[in-house]
Formats: sequence, structure tokens, C-alpha cells
Amino acid sequence: MESILVLTHADENGGQLSKGSLEAVTVGRDLAARLGTKLTIGIVSGNSKDLAPCLASTEARLLSVAGEEFAQPRYASDAAACEAICRAAQPTIVVASHSSRFARVMAAVAHRAHGCIETHVMAIGAADKIDATRWFYRQRMKAVVTRESRPWFLLLDAGTHAVFSGEVAPVQVEEIAVEPPAFRTNVLGNRTPEQCEILTATSSKGSSQAYGTIRPDAKLLFVAGAGWTKKQPDGKVHSGEAGELILQFLHASGASLGSSKSLVDQGSEGSPVLTFLTHLNQVGQTGSTPRHAKGLATCCHGEEPHVVGWRFITERRAISIDPNCGWTRGKADVVYVADAFQVMERLNSLLETQVPEETR
Ligand SMILES: Cc1cc2nc3c(=O)[nH]c(=O)nc-3n(C[C@H](O)[C@H](O)[C@H](O)COP(=O)(O)OP(=O)(O)OC[C@H]3O[C@@H](n4cnc5c(N)ncnc54)[C@H](O)[C@@H]3O)c2cc1C
Repeated sequence: MESILVLTHADENGGQLSKGSLEAVTVGRDLAARLGTKLTIGIVSGNSKDLAPCLASTEARLLSVAGEEFAQPRYASDAAACEAICRAAQPTIVVASHSSRFARVMAAVAHRAHGCIETHVMAIGAADKIDATRWFYRQRMKAVVTRESRPWFLLLDAGTHAVFSGEVAPVQVEEIAVEPPAFRTNVLGNRTPEQCEILTATSSKGSSQAYGTIRPDAKLLFVAGAGWTKKQPDGKVHSGEAGELILQFLHASGASLGSSKSLVDQGSEGSPVLTFLTHLNQVGQTGSTPRHAKGLATCCHGEEPHVVGWRFITERRAISIDPNCGWTRGKADVVYVADAFQVMERLNSLLETQVPEETR
């Protein structure tokens, strides 16, 4: 008989469970129901009393390792906490979010529990056997995996399941006392990436609000291609104007900012660059594979190594001056064959005057 443990952690502010953790709760709850088995949920946090009531309707056994030492993400404390919860629950299946916090420790926890682990899991089936659908090789190959050995740890990719939400009510939480291990790392706090500051500082709106350029929760992904810094029909480069148009759009729309590889590579080749872009913004085969509902590519050719990073973007649009670009060859839903400088200028003025901020 299988027994299911969902491991969860608090979000960055410590006030609630992280979004990925709540997705894992959805999966663990469904799996336990399908198998007709018991569900246990473990919480690693500074204070589980505030976090646990949102799990009341799961009717799960709730275990917690809490305290100041367990509030911050840190390998030694997170691994010790997860290990203690696993020893108390004795699960055969462990489901957790593939967050940076848990991805860092869960292979070690699986090892300590004499189990095995699957990462980048997107679905868990429970027909004859439990199986995990997962990605390999930077999300280029998908496989369905079954294993006999237990406990089996399954780390779920973010955004693959609904976030659990249920009635908030008083619950009983079993606190597990864990002697904090010797720490070599002391977490002093969070530092916001510099690129957010640049984005704020150069905003023509003069807004004091800092925008992260990579915003997984944004409705729209805006991708800048190398064309923004190439010679334009007047024979000149307009990278300064390009940067201003892009930043204006990001502030007005709240979009997440992606880039082609060519554009972020240009800095190291001495070509004109958009200073707020780094390789962290790169989308594609050797970049990221974001999951936004909509994407708008601008001044980008739409070559396969770039577009492969768009596989989870539901609606794709592109603005390219080249009627034969890759987007027009079936890779986008809508292509505007037009000068992106002109289109973005018009779009920015429409956003400025016509679209209320709350609907963007
Ligand atoms: C192994 C390997 C891995 C790779 N991985 C990645 C990856 O992860 N991500 C990635 O992006 N690339 C990757 N590449 C590179 C990829 O093949 C392309 O070279 C790259 O995506 C091209 O970037 P681009 O479209 O921005 O630039 P370009 O090919 O230079 O295209 C610029 C486009 O802008 C258009 N343009 C110019 N001015 C305007 C204007 N005013 N208005 C509208 N359009 C305009 C031009 O017509 C042109 O189509 C990889 C390549 C290899 C070999």
C-alpha cells in the first residue's frame, strides 16, 4: 500500500505556503484519493501555525519542522528538516515542488531515505502502477517513468498544476523537534538583482516601483531580438531609442522580458547592447523555456534554437520586418510584418492613454 507525503515550504515572505508547494498539495491530494491511501503534508517554515490552516480541507496528517533556523532556504537546515519529516511519515511516494529551495536539497534527502528521485516531473499517473511524466535534456525529451524502489521522490515543475485552495480552519499540526545541524551558511537577507534597479532608474515614467525583468507570473512574455541593435533603414543604429521603447513597454504592460541569444551575446562582441539584458533573459535551446499565456517577439528572426524555448507559450505573436522570417513560416499565430520601432511606439502610446492599469 502506497503512502503519500507532500513536502512544502513557506514563500519568500514566510507568510504563506509557496505557490509551487500548493501545486504539490493538489497533486498529492489527487494521488492519495485515486489510490485510496492516506496523505501526509510536511511543512518547513519559520512558523507553521500561520501556514497550516489553509490545508484544513485536505484532511491530511500535518507534520512540521519550524523555527527561526528553518525559516530561510539553506541546504543544511532544509535537508535536516525534510529528512526528519520523511522519517516521521515513512512515505513510499514523496511529492514536492521543484523550487530552487527544494531542488537544492531533495536529491540528498532521497539518498538519506535510501530512495530515488525524479526531477522536472509534469504529471503523475496512477493506473496499474504509479508513473511520472518528466522532461530530460533541458525539456527536449519527454518520458514516462515507473520505478519499483521506494521511497520515490517526485519534484514537480512549477506551473504544471492548479494551486490548492480550500477552507481555512484550525488544524492540528505535529511539530517535529530537529536539532539544527552546524551551519556554515548564515542567511543575511535578499538582494534584488541589479537589472531591476536599472529598469526603474531609466523609466520615462519616473516610477519608483521596481520591476523584475524575469517575471514568471506575468501574463505576457516580451522578447527582444538582435534586430533592435542592428542598422535600420536610415543606415544608423538606434539602440538607445530601442532600450527606451522596450522599458516603456515593460513598465506600462508589466510583461516579463526575454531575449534572443544573439542580442545578449552582443555585449561580449563589442556591439551596441541593451544594458538591462543578461543571459538570464535568454529564451531558447540554451536558455529558458518560460510558461506565459502570451508571447510577443520583436526584431527576432524566429530560428528553431530560439523558438524551441517558446513551446509552452500559448499564443505567439511576432513583429518582424522580414516577411520570410521563421515566425511567418508557421512558428507564430500572428506575425506583424512591420518596423518594430514604429509598432512599439504606437503600442506604448495606446497603453499610456487607453488601457487602465488594473487590466494590463
Ligand atoms: C547550439 C545552438 C544553440 C542556440 N541556442 C539559442 C537559444 O537558446 N536562444 C536563442 O535565441 N538563440 C539560440 N541560438 C541562436 C539562434 O540560432 C539564432 O542565431 C538567434 O536566435 C538569432 O537571434 P535574433 O533572431 O535575435 O537575431 P537575427 O537573426 O540577427 O535576427 C534579427 C531580426 O530582426 C529583424 N529586424 C531588424 N530590424 C527590425 C525592425 N526595425 N523591426 C522588426 N524587425 C526587425 C531582422 O529582419 C531579423 O529577422 C542557438 C544556436 C545554436 C547553434
